[in-house]
Amino acid sequence: ECADPACACPEPLPVLGRDVTVPLVTGGDVTYAALDYAASAPALQRVWDDVAAYAPYYGSVHRGAGYLSQLSTDLFEQSRATVAEFLGCRPDDQVVFTRSTTDSLNLLAAVLPAGTHVFVFETEHHAALLPWQRAKGAQVTCLPAPRTPEEAVAALDVALHGAPKGSKLVCVTGASNVTGEVWPVRRLAAAAHRHGARIVLDAAQLVPHRAVDVTELDVDWVAFSGHKLYAPFGSGVLAGRPDWLREAEPYLAGGGATRTVARRADGSVEAEWHTTVARHEAGSPNVIGAYAIASACRALTEAGFDRLAARERRLLGLLREGLAAVPGVRVLSLFGEDSERVGVLSFVVSGWNSSHLAAALSAEYGIGVRDGLFCAHPLVRHLLGAESEDLGACGSPDPGAGFNGNAVRVSFGAGTPEEHIRRCTAAVAT
Ligand code: PMP
Repeated sequence: ECADPACACPEPLPVLGRDVTVPLVTGGDVTYAALDYAASAPALQRVWDDVAAYAPYYGSVHRGAGYLSQLSTDLFEQSRATVAEFLGCRPDDQVVFTRSTTDSLNLLAAVLPAGTHVFVFETEHHAALLPWQRAKGAQVTCLPAPRTPEEAVAALDVALHGAPKGSKLVCVTGASNVTGEVWPVRRLAAAAHRHGARIVLDAAQLVPHRAVDVTELDVDWVAFSGHKLYAPFGSGVLAGRPDWLREAEPYLAGGGATRTVARRADGSVEAEWHTTVARHEAGSPNVIGAYAIASACRALTEAGFDRLAARERRLLGLLREGLAAVPGVRVLSLFGEDSERVGVLSFVVSGWNSSHLAAALSAEYGIGVRDGLFCAHPLVRHLLGAESEDLGACGSPDPGAGFNGNAVRVSFGAGTPEEHIRRCTAAVAT
């Protein structure tokens, strides 16, 4: 599909829904162009096939003596090991299966040592911005949006330097869900550790696009969601250092998290909790979800992140070139033109209401993008500057207005054919 005969870029990986046709308001049908991978990526066909092959055999995990329960328990634990390997975890790191990135970060917020001072940038997704405010006794410092990666590192350094002694946590995104820009994670981790702080990486938008190695990046924890990593909904991961997880109260109280439970003579109930990963996985685990994540990890590793990223860069180049040719298009960026990006790009078109534009891309061209503030209100407001002054509390579309405070986001990945990108730029140009 590449115009360059010497190009060794791989073909798109087969994903679910690639042959789905949708009706157009102008008449007829067209193949759906899924360009909203940053919200939820279509599952890889390979992941779906793996899950379908296993589904007839699934059984209760850690709770049954039967053959299928044992099989499911083995597959669940093997999936954990696959994820640990995929993330380059240290030998004593714990991989907790959760429901999503949001759940993973809320879990970490729930296990913060008392009085932890948390540092975030205002550029974070709400899932990485908000859980800390609810953590008991935590203090949160929200740093303003930096203009360059260097400024981000320097700002964090200064903030941590000025903070009083005590438990500290930094939470940063690996790649922005709005601009797609890649953050200087290794340098931020070095700054955090220089000041005795821990760091958690919100890798929701990074893991689908780049190899993430927690040992090499030297981050303490990493969080991501299965549904953005070409696996179905309902599963996520928090992986990293065991100490805070081991020492805190269990995230959920219930079966599976306890070693023993007894009624005391005074009528109260006493529980002795596990100190292993089981401590935060109370209730029957989502073995299908864990298995699907592990399958996606294997599929992406085999496809090769270097090759996937090379292809993604080419598609991003096409998208940027196509949009640059359209008068009035402004691509949103924090770090500038030459910043490293994954396949996520947001833009506004002067004189256009972004919600109307996104609706037209869907209705007239069969293209699925997202418009809005992408659960990153402070960041989008910052990027749109004065343009967003009229914005309502949620940036809700203002029908009839030229500009509605929203942006349009195009996002893609391993399953995206070049035609989808070309269709999108042609449609915006029309
Ligand atoms: N962080 C980032 C950077 C994201 O893009 C998202 C999802 N848009 C999340 C966190 C939250 O992920 P989930 O909705 O799967 O919990």
